[in-house]
Amino acid sequence: TRTIVLDHRPQGKPTSDTFRYEISEVAAPADGQVLLKTLYVSVDPYMRGRMSDAKSYVPPFEVGQPISGGVVAQVVESRVAQLPVGTVVVGNLAWSEYQLAGSRGLQAVPANAAPISYYLGLLGMTGLTAYFGLLDICQPKAGETVVISGAAGAVGMVVGQLAKIQGARVVGTAGSDEKVAYLKNELGFDEAINYKTAGNLAQALGAACPNGVDCYFDNVGGAITDAVYDLLNKHARIALCGQISMYNATEQPTGPRPEPKLLKTSALLKGFIVSDYLPRWPEGVKALTEWYQQGKLKFEETVTEGFEQIPQAFLGLFSGENTGKAMVKVADR
Ligand code: NDP
Repeated sequence: TRTIVLDHRPQGKPTSDTFRYEISEVAAPADGQVLLKTLYVSVDPYMRGRMSDAKSYVPPFEVGQPISGGVVAQVVESRVAQLPVGTVVVGNLAWSEYQLAGSRGLQAVPANAAPISYYLGLLGMTGLTAYFGLLDICQPKAGETVVISGAAGAVGMVVGQLAKIQGARVVGTAGSDEKVAYLKNELGFDEAINYKTAGNLAQALGAACPNGVDCYFDNVGGAITDAVYDLLNKHARIALCGQISMYNATEQPTGPRPEPKLLKTSALLKGFIVSDYLPRWPEGVKALTEWYQQGKLKFEETVTEGFEQIPQAFLGLFSGENTGKAMVKVADR
């Protein structure tokens, strides 16, 4: 089987050289183990953080060791009674074509609720990030204005639709005209802004938010966030979800100091990690599944095909190649 390992810790933007392939034999499963065939591999911005050795909320990947993350796989040999051959599971697994795993940490994917890849996106980690960040931290009310940076990504597109379900006015930023059109025409965003071509971002956001900003769901940080902070209303709520514009920075980024704006507006700024909500994940999956089945939530995926495409699909996150959830299809079930 092929496995992708971390070749070295990248400085700045990772490249294809950051990764290395290793080929090995996979043993037969021991008692309590299953042999898994990888079907879909999730590529996620947070993995960039794990490639550095800086202390964070998940331990770093080790140089020379497999990269791991969200994977949907199928049991092809089993010595676990609850996971018979054929079962489709989702778990935190290595970037390998085949691997052995214990049953701990593997979740069987429901057979008919949604496409199995959705358990890496809408009904998985990224959908839950949208659900808890928006509903627990931002708590938008009908008629309020919600701004989302990175709005056409996996998390952002769910945030926007959930905010619409709450009755809010929804404004997103994204990096291409196609994404902007998608947000407005397909997902019902009230306004969307191409941050790459908007020119004066503060002006563009101001025009899109005539009543100011009550909630800000921040996936990106940097200049977009600086512009949103100028528009905050009294008691605004900011869910600090991601800062992808800075993940490849090689120097400490600097910018305006936002604290006086937060102070004057009595704003709430709350960072969060989706695993903070682990005990409530079943509630989130249930709610998202119901909205999806009622036709209230759409979802988009950018699926690249082929195990050897995983590094490129990951790198594409930093140039905005994906709309919705980026993942790689490795095999058919
Ligand atoms: P996305 O699907 O949003 O993919 C990343 C997107 O970010 C790209 O498509 C690109 O879109 C945009 N982007 C890349 N570089 C920049 C840049 N320099 N400036 C502005 N936009 C950029 O990824 P996810 O939905 O999975 O994640 C979104 C954010 O949420 C990330 O910051 C991630 O780290 C964070 N996150 C946090 C979690 C938590 O628990 N707190 C859990 C999951 C994700 P575009 O074309 O618009 O530029």
